[in-house]
Amino acid sequence: MNLDVNTLFMVTIYVEAILGLLLLFAWVQNTAITAVAWWGFAYLVRAASIVLFGMFGNVPDLISIDLANALLFTAFALTWTGARVFDGRPAEPVYLVTGAVLWLLVCRLPVLTESLDARVLISSGIITAYTWLTAYEFWQGRAEALVSRWPAIFMLFAHGALFLLRTPLIAILPWSPGNNMLGSVWLTVLSFEALLFTISIAFILLAMAKERTELRHREAALVDPLTGIANRRAFLQEAAAHAKRHMGNPRPSSVLLIDLDHFKSINDRYGHAVGDQVLEVFAETARQTVRASDLIGRLGGEEFAAVLTDMPQDKAFAVAERLRADFAQAAATVDGRPVGATVSVGIVNCDGPLFDVAGLLAQADQALYFAKERGRNRVEVASLDAILDRAAGTKAAPASAVAQNAA
Ligand code: GH3
Ligand code: MG
Ligand code: MG
Repeated sequence: MNLDVNTLFMVTIYVEAILGLLLLFAWVQNTAITAVAWWGFAYLVRAASIVLFGMFGNVPDLISIDLANALLFTAFALTWTGARVFDGRPAEPVYLVTGAVLWLLVCRLPVLTESLDARVLISSGIITAYTWLTAYEFWQGRAEALVSRWPAIFMLFAHGALFLLRTPLIAILPWSPGNNMLGSVWLTVLSFEALLFTISIAFILLAMAKERTELRHREAALVDPLTGIANRRAFLQEAAAHAKRHMGNPRPSSVLLIDLDHFKSINDRYGHAVGDQVLEVFAETARQTVRASDLIGRLGGEEFAAVLTDMPQDKAFAVAERLRADFAQAAATVDGRPVGATVSVGIVNCDGPLFDVAGLLAQADQALYFAKERGRNRVEVASLDAILDRAAGTKAAPASAVAQNAA
């Protein structure tokens, strides 16, 4: 492979600058992900450092070597800081400049001004440290399911390893053309690798930011912002998915419809903010009561629904009853006020192969109506009679839908 070093320099400066601007432009369009700005600046700083490297021989070494290296390390430190910020950790101003300061101090040592290899080794060590730290930050944030996180970690790790190994490799490999780092084929190979890395990682970083934004949008579209549980749309989607699974493997499951009692008067008496807290207390109680495999969602206002999967009717009733009792206890006092909030629950069991979400919710609604009518703060089960009425197509009036108190 024959690559002209000067051309590579020019191309690299151009690419680094363009990618820096591209990242900054992406950040301006979506300022929510600050890390993208850090990464954009990193690219511009690296472009500047390569410009200074390119002036070698024409300007004092202090600029074309010392300052250029200091800028280069700062660029890698900026990328690392971006990775910290990306995963919600604070920037570390001290470590941001540690590489550059270390370099400028160490280069003053007489033993190093003499040895190019030693200087290359130190500079490689600094770059590898920042690159691996960047990979480590991304690794730490792996709980967030971003697919593009993994190529980022892999590439950063591999690039860091190559940088660290380049000095020993030059000494070991037989086709190394001698001890002069500059002017060797190695400089070309490494510059070319650095160029490819720089291009790939910029797009991977952009992909991570984009994936994060999409993930947030998807979550926002499915999660109720007040209570953090599934919203109506998500609940109905999950229930439909459960209905599909249920068809393949019918197991008894139950649908609960839950409505807070006299919630309007709680709002009127204690204020909307306390009302919101009551809703949060309910969501928290419900989360603790149902299993991870069950579904729970806020259908709207002060109305919630749950699907208890693979559970016989009597057990499902016991869960509903526990939810009712636990909430009455948890919401007895909210924000220091004697709110005494309670819920009414309508429950319907499904043990046939067809899990008809809309039909089951309608039956649970009838049972809920009876729970309200019979004094609230209670659980009512939709009776078989009501189910048969629906199946026969007779429109059962709520009062005749014989929801029974299974307590
Ligand atoms: P019932 O026992 O018959 O269900 O009576 P209720 O007062 O709970 O029912 P109603 O439907 O009359 O009132 C529901 C109230 O819920 C009215 C509305 O202002 C309130 N509400 C709906 N969404 C929210 C919310 O997000 N926050 C608060 N604080 N209140 C809400
Ligand atoms: Mg209500
Ligand atoms: Mg209601």
